[in-house]
Amino acid sequence: MLQKVEGIVLRSSSYGESDKIVTIFSRELGKRAALARGAKKPTSRLASVSQPFTYAYFLVQQGRGMGTLQQGEIIDSMRSIREDIFTTAYASFIMELVDKLIDDESPKPRLFDILQQALHAISDEYDPEAISLFVEWKMLPIAGVYPVLHQCTNCGATDGEFSFSFQQIGFLCHRCFSIDPYIIRLTPSQVKLIRTFYTVPIDQVGKLSLKKETKGFIKKIVRTIYSEQVGIRLKSQSFLDQMEKTPEFYTPKKDPSEEE
Ligand SMILES: [Zn+2]
Repeated sequence: MLQKVEGIVLRSSSYGESDKIVTIFSRELGKRAALARGAKKPTSRLASVSQPFTYAYFLVQQGRGMGTLQQGEIIDSMRSIREDIFTTAYASFIMELVDKLIDDESPKPRLFDILQQALHAISDEYDPEAISLFVEWKMLPIAGVYPVLHQCTNCGATDGEFSFSFQQIGFLCHRCFSIDPYIIRLTPSQVKLIRTFYTVPIDQVGKLSLKKETKGFIKKIVRTIYSEQVGIRLKSQSFLDQMEKTPEFYTPKKDPSEEE
């Protein structure tokens, strides 16, 4: 059966001398692998559509076992993401997270929208670090974690000072601070920002410009939830951490004549 799907290439690996196995996350079918015959040859019509991050309509021949990619019609090649080491690193991290958290073949249209919006925002030159944070917060329910962020997890209050509790997986108001000795105190703007990351669709936020420390702080909270509640650590995270610590190693000089 030949099927047309709207999908994004999560990853692509080489197979044999000239073929590739492409893992496509599609709106209609969820995550599926397909064989792309000849895609390793630069002249192949499947070469460009089988690259990671590519957003396209794919024609897949489904049979028993793995499908075969017949054709692709590019909607957005996301080439600008691949041209920069920073955007590539963040987008790869997002892909790995999506790939790790879904292992079945059932459709996940909401997640598909998150991924598509995230890649679109990164290729549109939004801060890739902030975009990956959006994805991390928004994917918590997909990972089975439902943080309570609209009220106090203990008494339900919506006013007052708030802190984050890993024990309760959500906010605690100042009246309930004592029930968890390891709370993380939050400023009102941090509370607002966490809620934004979790609830506001990526395409409705606009270009947030956040301080490095703010992103670092909120990232620590979400990464702790992932490592404690979900139990995952991603391969691409180590590279990302290294890159964030020493960005000067990875930033090419704009003008070669400036070199000493
Ligand atoms: Zn409370």
